[in-house]
Amino acid sequence: MTTTAPYQAYVYAYPHKTAYRPLEPEPSLQKVWTAEPSDSLFLYMHVPFCEMRCGFCNLFTRTGAPEELTGAYLDALDRQATAVLDALGGGASFATAAFGGGTPTYFTAAELERLCDIAGRFPGFGKGPLGVETSPATATTDRLTVLAERGTTRVSIGVQSFIDEEARAAVRPQKRAEVEAALDRIRAVGFPTLNIDLIYGIDGQTPATWLHSLNAALEWRPEELYLYPLYVRPLTGLGRRAQDWDDQRLALYRLGRDHLLSEGYEQVSMRMFRRPEGVTGGTEYCCQTDGMVGLGCGARSYTAGLHYSFEYAVEQRHVRSIIDDYVREDDFATARVGFELDAGEQRRRHFLQSLLQTSGLDRSSYRTRFGTEPCDDFSVELAPFDDLGWLETTETTLRLTPEGLAHSDAIGPALFSRRVRESMASYKAR
Ligand code: SF4
Repeated sequence: MTTTAPYQAYVYAYPHKTAYRPLEPEPSLQKVWTAEPSDSLFLYMHVPFCEMRCGFCNLFTRTGAPEELTGAYLDALDRQATAVLDALGGGASFATAAFGGGTPTYFTAAELERLCDIAGRFPGFGKGPLGVETSPATATTDRLTVLAERGTTRVSIGVQSFIDEEARAAVRPQKRAEVEAALDRIRAVGFPTLNIDLIYGIDGQTPATWLHSLNAALEWRPEELYLYPLYVRPLTGLGRRAQDWDDQRLALYRLGRDHLLSEGYEQVSMRMFRRPEGVTGGTEYCCQTDGMVGLGCGARSYTAGLHYSFEYAVEQRHVRSIIDDYVREDDFATARVGFELDAGEQRRRHFLQSLLQTSGLDRSSYRTRFGTEPCDDFSVELAPFDDLGWLETTETTLRLTPEGLAHSDAIGPALFSRRVRESMASYKAR
């Protein structure tokens, strides 16, 4: 069933991890990667630690990890790197990399050195773009200096709001002074790209306070800005207080979008905006076609035909036990949990991930890759959005109109296959 309620799900990856299932038998990584192009891979290292748990977060992460655990996690990453490199063989090369989480800068400066050493075992690491996520409290000069020295080109910081009460309402209790000091340190150490994450739809947020936060962020002339709608998510703290925020969020989205466009930013997707003259160094990854190698127990890996990971959880005790199992693991030679993409799912993924970008779907690359016409393949799913005037079709491109882009979080889920939808629905949350 298609519904046009604007905030149904953020489709940052297709399929979502809740559609993954244990792989039986578990394929060896060697087999998984054997026929895969591996000359332009993306390396993703996941650090599942944060200093506090934000109320809006449903990412795989835990708080309060002691030093023994972070050290053991790095040891496990190193063992996993050995297994993955063995499986990839000699010819693999990595064009882009990112450290995400969690909060990678939860690691100390010395631990970050070690993380970079492990990443440095992958050919190509340090020569292409490297993105790292950080938080105000952990973006310290010593950590940032290590990251800059090891080739980080993009630092992304979660600010959410420059108003203390709003940060508290989103259960991210940080002070503006702390945020400004962190931004100052990031600019002082110097990275080609600074990204600031902001959230709209917080309890008590108004057009005036939203503009205030946007302008406070713009003072730093960030090369990129991500504007996230706050989500009511059943597995997280805020999800327990269900409210209908659609109108507020849509109004704040339009306000934010128009403000950034008037300030000279270009829109890349519903959430992402960038300064066209911004120094390149972002870690954009062509998710339609590039393979991704993920290290760490919350990381996914993608080949054309298989997405795999470790077990997924959000509830704290399960996250902790998955991390504890990961640091004790010796055998990383197989893929454990995943989703096999048949030809139909590969088409669907390519189509969906392209359509949700402002640039839209290049019809001829789709035809070249799959031999069919994209508008025919998805005509049924697209019809309601076409009727609403949210699609624009030219000879070369199929793209969303501005109003369509505003409804990305409705259009994306409507394009999920029945199989993915059923798997997600039958997922038992842990
Ligand atoms: S939103 Fe980011 S910083 Fe907050 S708990 Fe989740 S991963 Fe950690």
